Amino acid sequence: MKIGTKILHTGNEIDPTTGAVSIPVHHAATFQQAKADEFGPYDYSRSGNPTRDALEAIIASLEGGVKGFAFSSGMAAISSVFLLFSPGDHLVACEDVYGGTYRVLTRLFNRLGIETTFVDFTDLSKVREAIRDNTKALYLETPSNPLLKITDLRAVSALAKERGILSIIDNTFMTPYLQRPIEYGMDIVIHSATKYLGGHSDVLSGLAVAADGKLANQIKFIQNAFGAVLGPQDCWLLMRGIKTLKARMDMHQKGAAKLAEWLQGRPEVKEVFFPGLPGHPGREIHKSQADGPGGIVSFRLQTEEIAKKFLSSVRLPVLGVSLGGVESIITYPVTMSHAAMHPDHRKRVGVTGDLVRFSVGIEDPDDLIDDLDQALRQA
Ligand SMILES: *Cc1c(COP(=O)(O)O)cnc(C)c1O
Repeated sequence: MKIGTKILHTGNEIDPTTGAVSIPVHHAATFQQAKADEFGPYDYSRSGNPTRDALEAIIASLEGGVKGFAFSSGMAAISSVFLLFSPGDHLVACEDVYGGTYRVLTRLFNRLGIETTFVDFTDLSKVREAIRDNTKALYLETPSNPLLKITDLRAVSALAKERGILSIIDNTFMTPYLQRPIEYGMDIVIHSATKYLGGHSDVLSGLAVAADGKLANQIKFIQNAFGAVLGPQDCWLLMRGIKTLKARMDMHQKGAAKLAEWLQGRPEVKEVFFPGLPGHPGREIHKSQADGPGGIVSFRLQTEEIAKKFLSSVRLPVLGVSLGGVESIITYPVTMSHAAMHPDHRKRVGVTGDLVRFSVGIEDPDDLIDDLDQALRQA
């Protein structure tokens, strides 16, 4: 079955007890047990809930892993996965990692004795050089945020295997519809499901998928012990969103491709970043591991001043943080998505005042272009 069909038919989409075509929302905190020492499949909703189970089975199936886990946010998923590590452990992460991930690593997990080195993952020799005796994992995003840099997943997972360490990817920008990293040997896939998987900017949620049983057991233990689980109502919203993932992603990509090309021809625009553009660095690698460019276009305006004027003149897109919603969302990374990053680090990874990130929604692309056109004229 192709992934576009599998999104609707993973085998977990029908309620097993009633045949309902939508999984019921089980708003139960606890479950009746048959005897004092004989338990049913569920005992307490932090440990397991039938609605959450259905969602977790769906994401595991789509990513091709053995088990999925749902958390209360993307950061809850990411932080719970980092709880696999212990004081004295070291991680190597991509330098243009999501701002919140950078913050939790440099201001929270560092206090717990887990150290991280940030390097450019598009240069594998730098990743190799950063690995130490106590390194336990490689952590990356591809395409990265917000410059859409491409990392070779096969090469990273091979390097991790060679060194006997874990490879972890935040697959938020691609979703399993476009990129399934476990197929290339990655060990753990994480999502901010708040973005494309939910798709409607109405539910905060995170997911993790383990590629093997041993990791699944470890993450299961953390999910239950730490307790940052997703509630049943939000699990249902997410399953509802996932049903239209293919339709939405196809439209996001089509719109993004049209906009990226149009932006390239504008004199106010200095540089356009989009994996679908000819000449985008790493485009061939991206094509070899993903089924499309995604729906995010970033671009530099001629000056910071023009960028700010432009942002206050756009009318259709939401101006703010987040991405992956049906509505277009335009972000100023310096003060929004990457505000948590140290200014020096921001500069190092190219997040400067002239940069804008555009999450292209499913509006008619011609209307988006008209709006960007009037905003650029005012800038
Ligand atoms: C938004 C985002 C996160 C954080 O997810 P939340 O659901 O906001 O906690 C992590 N990684 C990426 C790439 C994101 O875009």
